[in-house]
Amino acid sequence: MRDCIFCKIVAGLAPAARVHEDELTVSFMDLFPASRGHLLVVPKRHFSDILGADEASLVRVAANSRRIALALKRALAPDGIGVHQLNGAAAGQTVFHYHMHLIPRRMGDPLGLHGRRQASELELAEVAALISEALLGIP
Ligand code: 5GP
Ligand code: ZN
Repeated sequence: MRDCIFCKIVAGLAPAARVHEDELTVSFMDLFPASRGHLLVVPKRHFSDILGADEASLVRVAANSRRIALALKRALAPDGIGVHQLNGAAAGQTVFHYHMHLIPRRMGDPLGLHGRRQASELELAEVAALISEALLGIP
């Protein structure tokens, strides 16, 4: 999809702080994090939302969400981790390429999915490096 920002990130045509890639998915830091460590797991194929997504992509997104959640726990020691997914503008979806949010949470954090501040390239690269390193130790 020519105008889809996540397709551009998948293709390497737009920048992102990546933490993982396999043949079906790419995982990278959210540019407007709801908390430090907020990342997105995205299928390489373009589907607007979960309704049209193929089963192989769904299964891989789910499995990688679990692995990366374990890495988030090791790297950042949050109190909890939100795993969220929105379908349609009415549900709050803003990027229409199916994706899973992983959001580390501290007790008492506000629970919104969308941050207001764009994170700097440096802070995203730093936290991506921590999570990538922790991911190496997850089977
Ligand atoms: P949605 O609202 O569709 O569930 O989530 C889309 C997410 O994508 C939001 O959390 C938003 O901050 C993030 N986002 C939007 N544009 C970009 C971008 O260009 N790069 C990255 N890394 N994240 C983005
Ligand atoms: Zn796309």
